[in-house]
Amino acid sequence: MAEPVVDTAVTPVVEAAVARARAALPAWTTRSARERAGILRRFRDLAFQRRHELAEVISRESGKTITDSFGIDVLLTLDFAAWTAEAAPRFLRSRTRGVSGLIFWRKRVRFDARPVGVIGVIAPWNYPFFMPASGVLPALACGNTVVLKPSEFTPESAALLGPLFREAGLPDGVLEIVQGGGRVGAALVRGGVDKVVFTGSAATGRKIAVACAEQLIPCSLELGGSDPAIVLADADVRHAADGTVWTRFANTGQTCVATKRVYVEAPVYEAYVAAASRAVTALRAGPRTSPDTEFGPLIHVDAARTIAKQRDDAVAKGARVAATASLPEGGGTAAHVAPVLLTEADETMLVLQEETFGPVLAVVRVRDADEAIRRANDSSYGLSASVWTSDRARGLAVARRLEAGTVMINDAASVVGMTDVPYGGVKESGIGRMHGEAGLGEFVRLTAVVDDRFTHWRQPWWYPYGAAHAEGIEAYAKLAHGGSLGERLRGLPGVVRLMLTRKGTA
Ligand code: NAD
Repeated sequence: MAEPVVDTAVTPVVEAAVARARAALPAWTTRSARERAGILRRFRDLAFQRRHELAEVISRESGKTITDSFGIDVLLTLDFAAWTAEAAPRFLRSRTRGVSGLIFWRKRVRFDARPVGVIGVIAPWNYPFFMPASGVLPALACGNTVVLKPSEFTPESAALLGPLFREAGLPDGVLEIVQGGGRVGAALVRGGVDKVVFTGSAATGRKIAVACAEQLIPCSLELGGSDPAIVLADADVRHAADGTVWTRFANTGQTCVATKRVYVEAPVYEAYVAAASRAVTALRAGPRTSPDTEFGPLIHVDAARTIAKQRDDAVAKGARVAATASLPEGGGTAAHVAPVLLTEADETMLVLQEETFGPVLAVVRVRDADEAIRRANDSSYGLSASVWTSDRARGLAVARRLEAGTVMINDAASVVGMTDVPYGGVKESGIGRMHGEAGLGEFVRLTAVVDDRFTHWRQPWWYPYGAAHAEGIEAYAKLAHGGSLGERLRGLPGVVRLMLTRKGTA
């Protein structure tokens, strides 16, 4: 694996951005959570007003269909901004309570959710507006400042966040954007930030984790996936086929949380393949701006080559091409790959071993649910999974045995749009969570401030030691942990003495 590539030429630019973000931190942190939420709301209002403009830029830059740009990138960002503005002030409220443990009866603790500081957000290209926003919105709401590094393949889409936030009233320096590729990303990770929030491939995530470990700074990693779907014999097969085909081919297969492998119980295998074949054959290419267009080119020619290689490897090892969608007239560009349904797939094939980040869906025939679960879990990834069944209890039972950050029953992938449901990976799919309170938790340091209900009372465990002290702690041990009620009660007088006769004052 190549070493982290810190480029001395880009380092000063990145460090200057981090310095501006750090200078902006004290004023931003001390604003009330409500004021910060107000700016997020204004951002949402402005993004809503410009929703079609934004979708057009995203679609033009990434090549994705206008429906995917608008319906996913823009709409999910609007939803997430609204939820974050509403939820963050509540989440950030300090909470005070007593402390457990008899000996601490006089204590109370206040939990403060403090901002982490300057967050480095590094984003991928596949949802070039929503992915950067997914890091930026909660970071800002929780009082952090941000240096964002978008993907080098989609700089313009992510840069749309800058003017929107400026117009919404975000002070200078609170959101800095640095553009460039891996070298800029590597410089940011080592550029003096307090935490790195990364979304991208497992290979890059590993390098970032190493760099953060060396500096002892935290990171959260949202990485790749090879999500399995399990279609049980009692499933509504048409529903399962429509759902798995949509999640796989939306955004032309370039989605982390998407079904990539389907394990179908033998009794419904043929029926599933027939229904999924019909759905794949029906997928429409066309001009990216047409609302009828359902898939487009991949992000670049290299991505098309990789997915074609994975497809050809499967076919060479015995997979069957059950269905293919038609490319646009004239065959499209070199970045186009025709959506394909591969059946009779097995673990010798790259399509089951690697993440497939393009329009290829692999189907595997299994004897029963146990085999499906075993093979579904036989992956280095664990982002999300789905179960398709008419029996809710059976669906839940299968879901509990799947190694994944989220599991959906009779649906897939749409969990990413549920702003209050945490999602994220297990195994090589990542560390940390996005969305929901767990997602907000990634952007704060929880500080516990403990004080006494009675100021200046001496603590019973302080000096001087001696017989009375020893008697007191023995009594406490009995009262707290004695094996019988009688033994516990025998500790009571000694504890009362410990608590009261040694209370003294400072
Ligand atoms: P990538 O890992 O190639 O790049 C992601 C970002 O990291 C880019 O901005 C890139 O410039 C930067 N980068 C590259 N090398 C770096 C380094 N050494 N140090 C710091 N930054 C560096 O990923 P990609 O191709 O942009 O995105 C596709 C991947 O992202 C897929 O694997 C997909 O599954 C994953 N993804 C995951 C989620 C999720 O929520 N789990 C969401 C979207 C995408």
